[in-house]
Amino acid sequence: MKINFIDLQAQYKKYETEINSEVMEVFNSAQFIGGEKLDKLEKNLAAYTGAKHAIGCSSGTDALLLALMALDIGDGDEIITTPFTFIATAEVIALLGAKSVFIDIDEESYNIDPSKIEAAITDRTKAIIPVSLYGQCADMDKINDIAKRHNLIVIEDACQSFGASYFDKKSCNLSTIACTSFFPSKPLGAYGDGGAIFTSDDELALKMRMLLNHGQNERYKHKYIGINGRLDAIQAAILNVKLKHFEEEANLRDEIGSRYSDLLEDADVITPKISEGNISVYAQYSIRVKDREAMVAKLSALGVPTAVHYPVPLHLQEAFKHLGYGEGDFPISELISTQIMSLPMSAFLSETEQDFVVQAIKG
Ligand SMILES: *Cc1c(COP(=O)(O)O)cnc(C)c1O
Repeated sequence: MKINFIDLQAQYKKYETEINSEVMEVFNSAQFIGGEKLDKLEKNLAAYTGAKHAIGCSSGTDALLLALMALDIGDGDEIITTPFTFIATAEVIALLGAKSVFIDIDEESYNIDPSKIEAAITDRTKAIIPVSLYGQCADMDKINDIAKRHNLIVIEDACQSFGASYFDKKSCNLSTIACTSFFPSKPLGAYGDGGAIFTSDDELALKMRMLLNHGQNERYKHKYIGINGRLDAIQAAILNVKLKHFEEEANLRDEIGSRYSDLLEDADVITPKISEGNISVYAQYSIRVKDREAMVAKLSALGVPTAVHYPVPLHLQEAFKHLGYGEGDFPISELISTQIMSLPMSAFLSETEQDFVVQAIKG
């Protein structure tokens, strides 16, 4: 059996007619940047999440960058975040000359541990970026409470959690700003790079819209130093089709994730723990194993692809050497990074395929 880690081909086959027709409309209109497809997508994204504004942009990384730029983050500012994430979260902080202050994660959710945030706040702290990792929201109520008390802004890195729920609200509508990614393998993926920024603050929305278009408020009138961070019309057209089917896919992902956990209950692995009030969109279905190298090799020999998100926490990355962290500083992140591995997951993973993966793990 040949199993895909993420079955993007099966997804395309299912929506092929709709996607082709939407994309052909863009070709025929020759409206490649902005326009009707993007406007429609932004309205649909706002309606789906409940956030007042959804703003399409060029990637999840640029969404995070634009959020920080809109808050005038720069030299000497400190941003509290997790070391157990994809590098983009902290990369944009460094790009603006600000400093990542890392906090260790919770051993069950793998998300930032809110009880450790307050001790890290200084008079230079400007914002907190919790990451909703693997498709499960960070503990946003607790984080928002702390932020409010200390006058900080919260930016949810929702690059893996578009479609997740947190106490009846959707990810991307849980903080002042949220950022998501439409990288092809994310829960809602485009056919290239893409992302979106969410906020219910009118002023921030307007500023981020200008920043992603060279800081323009009118054509060739530049209010800010910005970037070219636009989402193109072809990606918007594809995302509109996928968004229409997204709730069904999100439900399937939740079912498939829960089924993995049921089937793996008696295996010698640690399955994901979904916190109270949460519905995960399982951007990754990640388990912990004692001997990862052996497990990866065993599965690979049987044709089961796996991946490791993430083998080295950010505080131990060479690129962040200047922050001065070292081994032992964030023991939970370090432990999880040695044990974690992700299994094949998508809304199109069949029961037969899933049973095969589970048998391979247990065998
Ligand atoms: C994917 C991802 C990003 C970056 O998104 P891109 O669209 O690839 O730039 C940022 N943060 C997290 C947690 C991610 O998973």
